[in-house]
Amino acid sequence: MSVHVAQPVRPVVLTGGIGCGKSLVGSLFTGWGAYLVDADQLARDVVAPGTKGRVAVESLLGPDIVAPDGSLDRAAMAERVFANADLLAQLEEIIHPLVHEAGRQLFADAPVGSVSVYEVPLPGRSPFEEEPLVVVVDAPDDVRRERLLARGLTDDQITARMGSQPSRSEWLGVADEVIDNSGSVAELAVRAAALWRRVTGEDPPVGPDS
Ligand code: ATP
Repeated sequence: MSVHVAQPVRPVVLTGGIGCGKSLVGSLFTGWGAYLVDADQLARDVVAPGTKGRVAVESLLGPDIVAPDGSLDRAAMAERVFANADLLAQLEEIIHPLVHEAGRQLFADAPVGSVSVYEVPLPGRSPFEEEPLVVVVDAPDDVRRERLLARGLTDDQITARMGSQPSRSEWLGVADEVIDNSGSVAELAVRAAALWRRVTGEDPPVGPDS
């Protein structure tokens, strides 16, 4: 389902640090009819069995990164590449262009007049023809840490992942718009709706659950 809005709408890059709440905002936008593409999902799709991405990853890292059920063994991959910067760079050289191309094609096929949203963990090369609006979801590091602990990550995992990402001030530096997610989920929804209004010129559609 996608809604058509009256004014031409700039495409949105929806991003922010680990655990900031971008998936929650993305699902609100989707519920309001946005045409959303999730870069994490694309990164899985482009290395699915039978794809040229899978062939390239297997020839780079070896057949033992494939689990018995045919899926990629993410833990084995991480172990291999995070200890070896060259290998990580080569893996990224395979995956990033494939993700970019898949995103570009999906947005080229977006219904005319829809609100296009690219949910991505880092704002890299844009898949849009037009200059996107970069929307950063923001929450203090300690708040994100608490939420990620509740999601089952360990303190060390969180420290490592946060450490490999831009700092909070760097995130704010790349933002055209910021959605504050330091409060409750209900407050986040109010702020996301305000942004939706600024971007589309319209109120979010009222659904059966609203
Ligand atoms: P990642 O980059 O790790 O995929 P994300 O930016 O997509 O994270 P979410 O998955 O939306 O973030 O949120 C991280 C966790 O914090 C989730 O478990 C989510 O339910 C929870 N969360 C997000 N916002 C809030 C909030 N305002 N109050 C309570 N919990 C929240």
